[in-house]
Amino acid sequence: MAALRTGFKVATLSAVGAGAAYTGYRHYNSTNVYFTAHAESLPSDSQAALKKMDWKGFTEMRLQSAEQVNHNVKKLTFALPTEDSITGISAVTSLLTRHTPEGAFIPVFRPYTPVSDNDLPGTVTFMVKHYPGGKGSTKMHSMKPGDSMLFKTLQEFDYKPNEHQSMLFIAGGSGITPIFQLTRAILRNPEDKTKISLIYANNTEDDILLRKEFEDLEAKYPGRFQKIFTVSKKTSSGDDVETGYVTKQMISKVWSGKAAGQKVLVSGPPAMVEAVSGAKGMAGWTQGSVGGILKELGYTKDDIHKF
Ligand SMILES: Cc1cc2nc3c(=O)[nH]c(=O)nc-3n(C[C@H](O)[C@H](O)[C@H](O)COP(=O)(O)OP(=O)(O)OC[C@H]3O[C@@H](n4cnc5c(N)ncnc54)[C@H](O)[C@@H]3O)c2cc1C
Repeated sequence: MAALRTGFKVATLSAVGAGAAYTGYRHYNSTNVYFTAHAESLPSDSQAALKKMDWKGFTEMRLQSAEQVNHNVKKLTFALPTEDSITGISAVTSLLTRHTPEGAFIPVFRPYTPVSDNDLPGTVTFMVKHYPGGKGSTKMHSMKPGDSMLFKTLQEFDYKPNEHQSMLFIAGGSGITPIFQLTRAILRNPEDKTKISLIYANNTEDDILLRKEFEDLEAKYPGRFQKIFTVSKKTSSGDDVETGYVTKQMISKVWSGKAAGQKVLVSGPPAMVEAVSGAKGMAGWTQGSVGGILKELGYTKDDIHKF
């Protein structure tokens, strides 16, 4: 775990008390994604002109645009401090937001994971799901272009190219955002030979985020990336989306079974994480013990990372 994150955790928990109730991801108050103009695709003199952001403490950024993606998700694009700035974050890193609600004393901290490429100049984009009554997501959804928010980096998983021969990603709902960031980082790196299998579960087809982006990646990287979308309630007749919760049978369609050099990442709502890999511990602050389907398939603590 990154030192920055550990330091933050101590600071925020002590500020608000470690007992803050939370049934979703960890509590912190206690894609038409931009595939153009990547730094790597720019002429080398332009590339050299880009400035990796110097993340020290919280940085204020202004909302540039907001777009409703489906019934409860918005795509929010913030302007980086200058047009030639890039976030420069490494996979997998989220940006921790901080705001103080009107009339409150205690600030609210929530992480959101950029889905724009980490070397995209000028902007950073998030996909944010709204939870009615939720302090962080309601604030993000209420923002208008020109409004500002404070952000700080928060590394969630330290990925090293080729450390694993193959990776299985199991995601649900808005838990897809860290998985998308990592998938893009792996596949865009010509030196990285890691193979990726993804199972992405949602309630309905309308809830599938970044669908076209994942379909394009599967078409572009045959043999490197394959995916299954599955939904609880299917509305279309096509066979490109499966029905039902994640099962062992579903996993076996994109995954050869336990072998050396594998890593499994699980990212989604607590009920899904528990069913697939066992619940996280300490209200989401620790990895918890291995359980669920992955335990039945023989995976152990070192094989799995839960977001
Ligand atoms: C590393 C990391 C990266 C994240 N990246 C993203 C991202 O890119 N996009 C995004 O939309 N979210 C992301 N999240 C989740 C986000 O940080 C907030 O937890 C989420 O927006 C809810 O916060 P809130 O303050 O609105 O709701 P809260 O006030 O925390 O909760 C409001 C209500 O919603 C329920 N709830 C909250 N979260 C969930 C959940 N995940 N599943 C089911 N019920 C829930 C709670 O039980 C409660 O009833 C990420 C979380 C982590 C840990």
